[in-house]
Amino acid sequence: MSNFSFARPDDPTPMQAREPVYGNCKECGAEHLMRYPVLSEGGWYMVVKCQDCLYSQSREKWTRLGHVTLLTDAIE
Ligand SMILES: [Zn+2]
Repeated sequence: MSNFSFARPDDPTPMQAREPVYGNCKECGAEHLMRYPVLSEGGWYMVVKCQDCLYSQSREKWTRLGHVTLLTDAIE
């Protein structure tokens, strides 16, 4: 028997939270901008993307491992 137990997430449908951003898309003009982290070549980025045409309004380096925070990162 295992002594380890892992609680199920409280949220039955865990999903990436997307934060609405006020403003218009520079590309298509839609008021449909969202900020959320994405993983791409070069690591994690926090992006603001138009949800209509997927134009990247802004893109900045996020944490090295995205949602994962290592103790060694915290004490740097
Ligand atoms: Zn757009």
